[in-house]
Amino acid sequence: MDPGSAYSKVYVLRLGHRPARDKRITTHVGLVARAFGANGFILEGVCDEVVFESLRKTLRMWGGSMVLECGVNGEEYVREWRSSGGEVIHLTMYGLNMEDVIDAIRVSTRPKLIVVGAGKVEGFYYEASDYNVAVGNQPHSEVSALAVFLDRLFRGRWTNIIFEGARLKIIPQSRGKMVVNIGDRI
Ligand code: SAM
Repeated sequence: MDPGSAYSKVYVLRLGHRPARDKRITTHVGLVARAFGANGFILEGVCDEVVFESLRKTLRMWGGSMVLECGVNGEEYVREWRSSGGEVIHLTMYGLNMEDVIDAIRVSTRPKLIVVGAGKVEGFYYEASDYNVAVGNQPHSEVSALAVFLDRLFRGRWTNIIFEGARLKIIPQSRGKMVVNIGDRI
């Protein structure tokens, strides 16, 4: 997480992962969580080693650390998060417009659990969440909704995160690719 962040925990809870069809998009939810400044990725209901190995590989090569958990009971996880003082933010196109609630969410320093779905999301999450937040009122994707929400939460500062322990670093180029190993002179 951004070392300057006011939040001890920003976790993403991914609901409804279907191993037969969601490996790629769930991996992308995890990758967005890491790159955009969250420090936990929690998979509800199942464990999928393909997804988690991909995330662990990214952490090994590109650095940073995240809490990774799978197979949790989502409803219990949400209840425990709230009872230990955290707040729950469910991203859904049916919620309140992000522009209207993001300041209140940003100001609160409570640990944040951001919930995203896959298919239909059970009514429990609409009721139990502190905020149901719409990233626009059109259907799109958990990946885009999470990225835009985290960008607004961190006011773009996620771009300055230094991922500790990275083995690789990209040197931006106007054309082509340059990736250096840690230890190389830049
Ligand atoms: N019809 C589904 C439902 O009942 O929520 C939408 C499924 S959508 C493919 C998967 C997830 O993307 C949703 O559960 C939600 O977390 C996220 N999502 C999609 N569009 C969104 C939007 N406009 N605002 C916030 N989240 C959105």
